[in-house]
Amino acid sequence: MNGGETLDFEIRPHLSPVAAAERSALMANPGFGRIFTDHMVTVRYAEGKGWYDARVEPRAPIPMDPATAVLHYAQEVFEGLKAYRTVDGGVTLFRPDANAARFHASAQRLAMAPVPERLFLDALEALIRVDREWVPSDPEGSLYLRPFQYASEAFLGVKPSSEYLFLIIASPVGSYFKGGVKPVNVWVSRDYTRAATGGTGAAKCGGNYAASLIAQAEAIEHGCDQVVFLDAVEQKYVEELGGMNVFFVFADGSIVTPPLTGTILPGITRESVIRLARDGGLTVREELYSYEQWRADAVSGRLREAFACGTAAVITPIGVVRDREGEFTVADGKAGETTMSLRDTLVGIQRGQFDDPYGWVHRVL
Ligand SMILES: *Cc1c(COP(=O)(O)O)cnc(C)c1O
Repeated sequence: MNGGETLDFEIRPHLSPVAAAERSALMANPGFGRIFTDHMVTVRYAEGKGWYDARVEPRAPIPMDPATAVLHYAQEVFEGLKAYRTVDGGVTLFRPDANAARFHASAQRLAMAPVPERLFLDALEALIRVDREWVPSDPEGSLYLRPFQYASEAFLGVKPSSEYLFLIIASPVGSYFKGGVKPVNVWVSRDYTRAATGGTGAAKCGGNYAASLIAQAEAIEHGCDQVVFLDAVEQKYVEELGGMNVFFVFADGSIVTPPLTGTILPGITRESVIRLARDGGLTVREELYSYEQWRADAVSGRLREAFACGTAAVITPIGVVRDREGEFTVADGKAGETTMSLRDTLVGIQRGQFDDPYGWVHRVL
């Protein structure tokens, strides 16, 4: 663990939290990232002083000087994870230690003072304890947690900020798929790439998303749900989607996913899927896979399934693959058997319905 240091959190309860009846009404149809809990975490950093002033306080706007560094040079990183309600009324997190480690690594890539991993985990728990009523009991729902950190110093020089603010906000979310899992159509961008070697592709930073939005907009324009990025050097190899990693399942039962060469975000769902598939007796290869090969394998029938994965949607089957020249369908365009079986296992572990031999589930309450 990078940093076992932590702080005591001062709890400042909201004086007029959302009433129980209104909260239930909001949580009946939460959508994604539209409604928020009563509180937030804030922790400050200053060079020479370290992290200080850890609080759980009422969620409110953050006053900002117009010269605040993040507004100019985008020094910002974030995380995304979910808290689940257990059948006995408790609350768990899925692999929060992995999010803590990735947040630390992302901050280092962006030349920011990293949040000690222990502090990150304690902050999550402190917020969940105060906002526990906001964790949905609906078996499809969860509380999405968004830790983030930005350069808060007011100055216009190009150098790493000497002050940072670390926050966590939380948002109850419903099922990503209304009315059951259904395959998404994906758009393969031939004009834009997401990350180059030596760049920030492996860091979870807002800037990567800013650069991907035009390609995502192009996907929507062409009737697709998500964009697929190819490598920046040859525009040949499949890397990942805008915010999800990608897997391919072959007729011989083996699985391929692109390797983590520095331009791909190391997804925690990706890593969990690899583990589950291998422990289930499947061969998983982390190797380069070209877009041309994807098309050829889909046409020949060598490719049986393709899916995307990430915290928000867990595992999403891919149906139609389209680019500016045409399209092809993966097998019959329906959710594949291996895809759905991996999904059921992962969701079952996350929600405490299955045993967790990996120690992935972290009990908070
Ligand atoms: C967060 C993210 C993922 C998925 O990571 P998980 O840890 O599985 O949620 C994949 N790609 C990008 C670009 C991401 O930002």
